[in-house]
Amino acid sequence: MKMMYEINDTHDPNLKSWVESANDPATDFPIQNLPWCAFLDAGASQSFSTPRLGVRIGDRVLDVSAAASRGLIARDDSDHLVLDAAQHMLSHADYRFDSIAYISRMQPGAAAQLRAAIQRVLAAGFENLSESKFPGSRLVLPAEEVEFLLPVQPSNYTDFYASIHHATRVGAMFRPDNPLLPNYKWVPIGYHGRASSIIASGTPVTRPSGQTRADDAEAPRFAPCRMLDYELEVGAVIARGNELGSPISIADAEDHILGLTLVNDWSARDLQKWEYQPLGPFLAKNFATTISPFIVTMEALAPFRCPAYPRPDADPRPLPYLSHAGDEHLAGIDITLEVHLASAEMRRRSMHPVRLSRGSFKSMYWTLAQLLTHHASNGCNLQTGDLLASGTVSGPAPDSAGCLLELTWDGPGKPRKPVELPTGEKRLFLEDADEIILRAHCERDGFRRIGFGECRGTIAPAKS
Ligand code: MN
Repeated sequence: MKMMYEINDTHDPNLKSWVESANDPATDFPIQNLPWCAFLDAGASQSFSTPRLGVRIGDRVLDVSAAASRGLIARDDSDHLVLDAAQHMLSHADYRFDSIAYISRMQPGAAAQLRAAIQRVLAAGFENLSESKFPGSRLVLPAEEVEFLLPVQPSNYTDFYASIHHATRVGAMFRPDNPLLPNYKWVPIGYHGRASSIIASGTPVTRPSGQTRADDAEAPRFAPCRMLDYELEVGAVIARGNELGSPISIADAEDHILGLTLVNDWSARDLQKWEYQPLGPFLAKNFATTISPFIVTMEALAPFRCPAYPRPDADPRPLPYLSHAGDEHLAGIDITLEVHLASAEMRRRSMHPVRLSRGSFKSMYWTLAQLLTHHASNGCNLQTGDLLASGTVSGPAPDSAGCLLELTWDGPGKPRKPVELPTGEKRLFLEDADEIILRAHCERDGFRRIGFGECRGTIAPAKS
């Protein structure tokens, strides 16, 4: 596999920003990160309701389009890239698709120049965007004064099943003697999801209703879901697509990824159980999928690459089109992922959300490059802005399970074991008003920690 982005000057851990909060060791958004986002500037009356393209820095957001169109981006060869992107965006009605799509279609070299140019204007010493230089300009806004939107509006969404730990545990619930189906180690399993119900972090998730059938009942009934779950996932945003009929080689796969977001694939387990055979997930999945506001670029993630999943010798080698051909040592990404829950009672008592699980993206059986290559291997055309989600990220340890279906399972034939909250409340599945918060970060000695921000959603009661 060709590594599209190598570690370079933009990852220098000694770089500081004039945005002081970006220099806090605990921030998700140091100057080495610079994730893309889209936001509404609710504070500026003249641009009220005009969505903007931004880059998150510390507790602030750089209004990329405003800064570029004022000519405030560093004067060098990459000037025109930023200006083109900003003007392109401002001249189109659908800012999100057009701005991030524009950036996405850049050749990797141009995208790297753009990152370097934006880093330059945020670096300590270059304070031309600061309020003191341009009073009232609001080029760098406090994050709490903006509303973050979907960073992309995907036209297509695919969800995979790339954690062997998730697949094995869930399989064991239905087939204790034969948890993993024979195709799992050969072919990345996925299904086509629904793009229209992808929602921004913070959007309430209405409890779905649907058909369920109790084990001891003859007929199903139509009622609100009683086994509502989350799924902790990582999503890849497609940068440049491929022509219909033309596969993508695994060597080129990462050229097609702009960056990663957090994904919560909300799941109605009781609906799923009744409907999933013979064609797979449908209404149990397509009522809502939440994504986090920030696209952490593949370039920002370069220092956190790690080996692909260590396949035991007894496992089959990937077929040649899915083989990393000697570059397995950098095919994975070490991202620490966490799920937190806050019930209404916890919020009423001002308690912090409680962590339900913690795992790592490095435990995935299939790499992002393998998922993407497999997706296009039949000639299916991926498109700019598409979302490819990894599937539930679960590790080998019980407390690294990325959904309640696994966390509350205590083995075949045993009753489910509820999760206990600090209030004494218990959860087998989600109750109304529960809030789920996904978080993620990357750490490595010699580099600045970077994070993904949060992916939040609160359950709203079912509508009849
Ligand atoms: Mn899923």
